[in-house]
Amino acid sequence: MSRTNIQVLLASRPTGGVQESNFCIVETELPSPGAGEILVKNQYLSLDPYMRGRMNAAKSYAPSVALGEVMVGETVGIVVESRNPQFQEHDIVRGFLGWQQYGFSDGRDLNKVTVTEHLPASVYLGAVGMPGVTAWVGLFEIGKPQPGETVVISAASGAVGSIAGQLAKSKGCRVVGIAGGKEKCAYVVDELGFDACIDYKAGNLVEDLARATPAGIDVYFESVGGEILEAVLGRVNTFARIPLCGLISRYSESQPAGLRNLTSLLFNRVTLQGFIVGDYADAWPSITRQLGQMIASGQLKYRETIAEGLEHAPAAFIGMLKGQNLGKQLVKLI
Ligand code: NDP
Repeated sequence: MSRTNIQVLLASRPTGGVQESNFCIVETELPSPGAGEILVKNQYLSLDPYMRGRMNAAKSYAPSVALGEVMVGETVGIVVESRNPQFQEHDIVRGFLGWQQYGFSDGRDLNKVTVTEHLPASVYLGAVGMPGVTAWVGLFEIGKPQPGETVVISAASGAVGSIAGQLAKSKGCRVVGIAGGKEKCAYVVDELGFDACIDYKAGNLVEDLARATPAGIDVYFESVGGEILEAVLGRVNTFARIPLCGLISRYSESQPAGLRNLTSLLFNRVTLQGFIVGDYADAWPSITRQLGQMIASGQLKYRETIAEGLEHAPAAFIGMLKGQNLGKQLVKLI
């Protein structure tokens, strides 16, 4: 009996903001797995800011998605057929199988995950997956926070920021989040335990940041860029560290924008280091084990915003880029 697959393809490259018309949804025939292959039915698809860059033709740290190709994306799913001795039917696996209902793999890019009462399959795309590892390496390898220091986290209510801030709290730091809107800020303080959170949309960023960081800023976990980075540079202490994780406010701009306050980096001898989580593959097993333990014990909290159905992935992706998510943005496929 023939089976079909639903796939979301890149139909056109966005100029500026992403539109739903940049994607098209197709139904294709699903072949059987070949020798050595595994067929996975995807349960959850992760939607991440890096996908915006993959929609461009411009050179980056990873190749672009070609027009007409399935959108790139990380998934967790269940093995439904295996012609590879390393994987059995019903295994739950994480991999980069893309925006589609079913995906094939030769096993090299698949990892089995263990679903427990405290660690559902979806968490392996968030707090115990790539965003959690990003928070960990950015904060500990580059930020190197010390007890009593002030750590500021942008995009604080999101997948990476929410974990980075809680990790900094666990090291005895004063942690200040920056997020868009009262509801997000309340979540960051009341539920995640940050010491303060600034609503950058309220219009008093510079003053609010000064009030929330009376002893200056020692570590800034940077995910946004633009005015937020410039405001932080006005408050950094000598020998501050800035893990440059992302620049989401800039991803849809066609022209590179400059940075004011650059003298602050010089005068304060600040270390600003960009990093890509993929460079830390060797550390992944140890970090995810520790993150899993912290989640299971209740030490780390996380939230998910889940869109139901692959057909809603484009709208959910556009919404996430505009800040409509709280915590990790996912799409539930089955
Ligand atoms: P989030 O879950 O944080 O979702 C994105 C958030 O970005 C939105 O909710 C929104 O929050 C905020 N945002 C969007 N546009 C703007 C803007 N113009 N100004 C300020 N904030 C904005 O996403 P992730 O946690 O997955 O990713 C966070 C950052 O980390 C991104 O920059 C991403 O590219 C980067 N990243 C980098 C990795 C690496 O290896 N270097 C790996 C993974 C992620 P709000 O409503 O608060 O504005």
